[in-house]
Amino acid sequence: MRQLAAALAFLALSGASLAAAAAPPARRALAGATQRPPVVHFVYLVSADREVREDFRAAIAAAARDVQAFYARQLGGRTFRLADPVVQVVRSDRPAAWFYSHDSGRDKPLWGFDNGLAEAARLAGAGHDQPDAAWIVYSDGPGNDGRGGAGVAVLPEDDLLGLVGEHPTQKEPRRWVYGLAHELGHALGLAHPADMDAAPRAIMGRGFYDCFVGTDRCELTAEDRATLAKSRFIAPR
Ligand SMILES: [Zn+2]
Repeated sequence: MRQLAAALAFLALSGASLAAAAAPPARRALAGATQRPPVVHFVYLVSADREVREDFRAAIAAAARDVQAFYARQLGGRTFRLADPVVQVVRSDRPAAWFYSHDSGRDKPLWGFDNGLAEAARLAGAGHDQPDAAWIVYSDGPGNDGRGGAGVAVLPEDDLLGLVGEHPTQKEPRRWVYGLAHELGHALGLAHPADMDAAPRAIMGRGFYDCFVGTDRCELTAEDRATLAKSRFIAPR
């Protein structure tokens, strides 16, 4: 029995050696994968006590394409790339109320962002400042505070309702498409204008609130365009 055990131990080691020998090609494949053009991932994070809404998924995909086209119009044809499929639907085992009420350990206005990102990280691989991926997370957790920065934006149920015309006070879906353009700008490194009043049409200022009144009534400022010119996420279409 001891000998058999020893033989089994040897076999186990051999197995480990084989696995180690197989590792280098796998790592090479992974290195190749990171050289693909960076893409923006959209995650529809469905709470444990909510149903998947196809109209939400479709609205996120349409908004993603609309914002991609807005950036292209503003940047002379350059814009970000979308993942395939455009929207990844992910089921969380957290209830909807958890997202904006669970203490993440930081200031309360950041809880929804922190919790949404934590779940998208666990379930879809989202994370800050990834070289080949930025992440836009739509959570159906009730909240009204979308936020973005450092490669990530997290948007609450308000934005989902807005995209399908069900927001209680702001009924125009394009208001929420331009809201996405704003938060995605944060994710790609854009800041608010230093002087909001001097840039009333800035999408990164208050411009996104009434941008839908005409076609692109709001804009990326010269400073925004200079920042995005250096972004690895922005490339010719
Ligand atoms: Zn902002």
